[in-house]
Amino acid sequence: DEVPVGALLSDVVSRCDATAKKKGVELVADTFPDCFINGHDVWISQLFFNLIDNAIKFTPAGGRVSVSVDLDAAQAHFKIRDSGVGISADHLPHVFERFYRVDASREHYRGTGLGLSICKSIVDAHHGLIDVSSVVGEGTTFVVSLPLNASEDTPTEGAGEQLAGEPSESVAS
Ligand code: ATP
Ligand code: MG
Repeated sequence: DEVPVGALLSDVVSRCDATAKKKGVELVADTFPDCFINGHDVWISQLFFNLIDNAIKFTPAGGRVSVSVDLDAAQAHFKIRDSGVGISADHLPHVFERFYRVDASREHYRGTGLGLSICKSIVDAHHGLIDVSSVVGEGTTFVVSLPLNASEDTPTEGAGEQLAGEPSESVAS
């Protein structure tokens, strides 16, 4: 199905608003552009929910979580960025593994360690990419890239090249 990701992401952000407020974390979001991807709305919602939920959970009071979207010709890039505790380089490659939790011995953060492995499965199922970068004590950024739905009025490759390049007067007639 065609999923209106902009609208859906706004919906997830407003669902997370109360949690953020209660914790004293500022949750800021763009006005998301209208864009569509091919997939399942429930899964896409789950994907964003898990990432925003983590961002709020691992950010202390007074911190900030921001959600933004960048579009290019073929993909939407969703960025979930927090000013939280961060993830060290030795843990970072493992966070998408099932049941993996940094510092699982501490009771401070509750969780099963499944959220991000589910995110990875959802992104894979939608032919996308998920990436993470982090600095301990400064924060974490997750970027999800998903292919946009090509609509009928999408220029063909040739037309795209012409638009981006020289005017077409040079074409021999
Ligand atoms: P669940 O999502 O199942 O409730 P969880 O949040 O612990 O549990 P994941 O969402 O899979 O599990 O995340 C795995 C681990 O990665 C977390 O336990 C945490 O240590 C680390 N992590 C994930 N997101 C962040 C983040 N935004 N900032 C810091 N650490 C994070
Ligand atoms: Mg989680």
